[in-house]
Amino acid sequence: MTHLSRRQWLGAAMGAAALPLAGCDAPGGGDIAGGFAGTHLERGHVLRDPGARDRLLLGPAPVARHAQVVIAGGGIAGLAAARALRLNGIDDVALLELEDTAGGNSRGGQVDGIACPLGAHYLPVPGDDAHEVQDWLEEIGVRRRLAGRWRYDERYLCHSPQERHWRDGAWHEGLLPVDGVAAATLAQYRRFAALIDGERRTSRHAMPALRAPFDAHQRQLARNSFAAWLDAHGLTDEHLRWYLDYCCRDDYGAGPSQVSAWAGVHYFASRHGFSAPGDDSVRTHDEAVLTWPEGNGWLARQLAAPLGERVHAGRTVLRIAPARHGVEVDALDHATGRLERWRAAQCVVALPLHVAVRVVEAPPPLLVQAAARTPHAAWLVANLRLDAPLRDRPGAAPSWDNVLHGSSALGYVDARHQALDPRPGPTVLTWYRALGAAPEARRALLQYPWTHWRDGIVDELSVPHPDLRERLLRMDITRYGHAMAVPAPQDDPVMAPAVVRHDRLAFAHADWSGYSVFEEAFTRGHLAGLALARTG
Ligand SMILES: Cc1cc2nc3c(=O)[nH]c(=O)nc-3n(C[C@H](O)[C@H](O)[C@H](O)COP(=O)(O)OP(=O)(O)OC[C@H]3O[C@@H](n4cnc5c(N)ncnc54)[C@H](O)[C@@H]3O)c2cc1C
Repeated sequence: MTHLSRRQWLGAAMGAAALPLAGCDAPGGGDIAGGFAGTHLERGHVLRDPGARDRLLLGPAPVARHAQVVIAGGGIAGLAAARALRLNGIDDVALLELEDTAGGNSRGGQVDGIACPLGAHYLPVPGDDAHEVQDWLEEIGVRRRLAGRWRYDERYLCHSPQERHWRDGAWHEGLLPVDGVAAATLAQYRRFAALIDGERRTSRHAMPALRAPFDAHQRQLARNSFAAWLDAHGLTDEHLRWYLDYCCRDDYGAGPSQVSAWAGVHYFASRHGFSAPGDDSVRTHDEAVLTWPEGNGWLARQLAAPLGERVHAGRTVLRIAPARHGVEVDALDHATGRLERWRAAQCVVALPLHVAVRVVEAPPPLLVQAAARTPHAAWLVANLRLDAPLRDRPGAAPSWDNVLHGSSALGYVDARHQALDPRPGPTVLTWYRALGAAPEARRALLQYPWTHWRDGIVDELSVPHPDLRERLLRMDITRYGHAMAVPAPQDDPVMAPAVVRHDRLAFAHADWSGYSVFEEAFTRGHLAGLALARTG
């Protein structure tokens, strides 16, 4: 693959326009230290080569291990399954996780002692359809009932100002372009809000979506792209389309031409809502968001803490197969290089679909079909360690979420924003880019050196922050080749059942919902754990 120029890098927007750059021949990141961090891609890639996997499976005699229930995969779904099992009296659990810590896409990390997200960074205040999530938030003290009303801990509700975007040389409040836009743009915002309101009235959009399987209207929406739906409704305004493109890339990892109209509508009708500025007649949401300096890594740690030594990290699960009276799970322990053979009565398969279909022996048709129809988006996350806050440019004040209009990236969140100490100080900015589901995106993640991404990021962020190079001490870049399911249009759309069972296996992962957010992962994990606990 040839090296993209930085102009191309910034413009390779998977559908978004390139950010207008004053200095495309800017000097990049110079000698700023850093590298790839946070994921061990090679541990998963053992599964790509069936020959290599078979050699591992047929090597020296495996170490024999035992647990009543093995959980393969320690993301939010696997961790929630472990909690549900514990709450229902099953404590003899072994959770096998490929990375060195549990949490999956919701892990947090540190750069020079400053906590920051490695992936997921927020959870909107969950609605009543996500009652398992609500119960758990109550259990860990994030939500309490006061004077008959539910209150969320102020420390964890995103502090104000929450969001801003950079456009035409200045920062603007919020993410939807409002200042200085034409009356025709505002009219399109109102029309879009009314359409979403109509969709909410026509069909039920639940979060998690497994609570509301597709009706006939939703199945129709799920057959076509969101971009086609917007075109059909004449919603072509440049600002509205940029905003919707941003939203789709943010939640689904791919833009409106790659995600279904169901997904585009569901984004607003379930979790986020859409209100046209100045029009309170159509108000569809509560904007409150829970977040932490280390993002959802804080939530992952709360889930993992009670498990203690039941978490067996640094293991790649290679094979899950039926055995006499139970299940056999083979995992490579990366610390020792030895194969472990776990025997268990039951197993929760909390793995992404493309992994589950490779490791489950004789996979059930539902898994084969789901894996075949689910594309995955690649993501890049960069943590930028600054020695002091950046000097600000005109307009809206520094916010938690800071987005650059027209960029192919998703902007950055500031780890210091939720700090209780108001004094300005060193911080970490976490910058995100969803690369879509094209195979080239995954190849680019593997082929380019980390400095390629560093230089592009520095050039992009130096436009609103000319002092970035002076302040930047290091940059750590996390790559996700198959980060999340993209809810692409389908010929025959189906929503997987809430619990997918096969003999002694229960499957749980956000991928089963066709897209990946915390509520889907947690609820599917919880229900899978519960199902196994109830059937013994
Ligand atoms: C960059 C990024 C940002 C995101 N931001 C948000 C956000 O702000 N809010 C939000 O709600 N959602 C966000 N998400 C979505 C996020 O994926 C979900 O919130 C949730 O973490 C998914 O959990 P999961 O358990 O379904 O999947 P995963 O996180 O994929 O968990 C699967 C686990 O299985 C492990 N595994 C894989 N293969 C093997 C193997 N062979 N053996 C053993 N273990 C294995 C993985 O390491 C991982 O820990 C984001 C995702 C990404 C990638």
